[in-house]
Amino acid sequence: MVSEIKKIGVFTSGGDSPGMNAAIRSVVRTCAFMGVDCVGIYRGYEGMIEGDFKPMDARSVNNIINKGGTILKSARCNPFRTKEGRKRAYEQLRAEGIDAFVVIGGDGSFTGAMIFNQEFDFPVIGIPGTIDNDIFGTTFTLGFDTALNTVVEAVDKIRDTASSHNRLFFVEVMGRDVGHIALNAGVGAGAEEILIPEENLGLDRLLESLKRSKESGKSSSIVIVAEGDKTGKNVFELKEYVEEHLPIYDVRVSVLGHMQRGGPPSCYDRVLASRMGVKAVESLLEGKTSLMVGVQDNRLILTPINKAIKGHTKIDKELIRVSEIMTT
Ligand code: ADP
Repeated sequence: MVSEIKKIGVFTSGGDSPGMNAAIRSVVRTCAFMGVDCVGIYRGYEGMIEGDFKPMDARSVNNIINKGGTILKSARCNPFRTKEGRKRAYEQLRAEGIDAFVVIGGDGSFTGAMIFNQEFDFPVIGIPGTIDNDIFGTTFTLGFDTALNTVVEAVDKIRDTASSHNRLFFVEVMGRDVGHIALNAGVGAGAEEILIPEENLGLDRLLESLKRSKESGKSSSIVIVAEGDKTGKNVFELKEYVEEHLPIYDVRVSVLGHMQRGGPPSCYDRVLASRMGVKAVESLLEGKTSLMVGVQDNRLILTPINKAIKGHTKIDKELIRVSEIMTT
């Protein structure tokens, strides 16, 4: 079957994550390999509406596999939420001769793509790019592994200070409403306690655990707190609460913030991005649409984009058990 798709657009949208550039590179090079034209769309849906396009060939993506952020820039775009805005975007794509697009982003970007596909019967495929790992239909999103490594490295450094001064550190990490970063990085960094939204252990349990930790002879402690944690207290309030109830502790807070979103992607994210880009372009050329590329059991899979948006990721119960045993 000869594909009707002759020109594919690619863009990044929503929050950036490490590995997005590697995915852009993969989409562009796969198009070149398959003999299909590729166009970079700048600033997500904003650039689509404004016609901010640039033809890309295999050489336009030299030396970007190792870079964090996104060379195509990213944006949030309210006009795309309106029918008028999407119509304008469609006209721009048609004027440029773009027949399909690959969107690299999170569930908001996928929602926009799904609506666009329904309204204009325009072929779209999604690649999940977010450090939070909160997208259904894939075990790993692009950027998650890199963010874990960043957090572990930061906590290793904080631990040096914590143990030199016999301090307790609360380290807040990203993750929106889910605790995947906190749980995985917490186990990797050897945290004493990990607070995640999926398991509200309660403040009594936290105090109990910190007390035990002190009694067992630990000189310093690290508690990882997911930003979406549901103890009802933010990380600074947690510090005050613990200092009030356990004066034996000298508590400090570190909010890692946006450093978790940047930096060169890990090897895992680069490889995953390369694989996902190939799969996305191949799927479009096979006539598939409104799907998201994901990875499960180290195999690439496709999930209907509406399911990827609506579904919820599950926290790894086995890893929670491991973390409990490790804090003995
Ligand atoms: P992410 O993709 O990281 O979840 P956002 O939720 O900010 O990021 O979504 C990115 C962009 O996707 C929005 O700025 C908007 O242009 C588009 N978008 C999100 N939700 C919708 C929607 N319901 N309808 C149309 N476009 C949407």
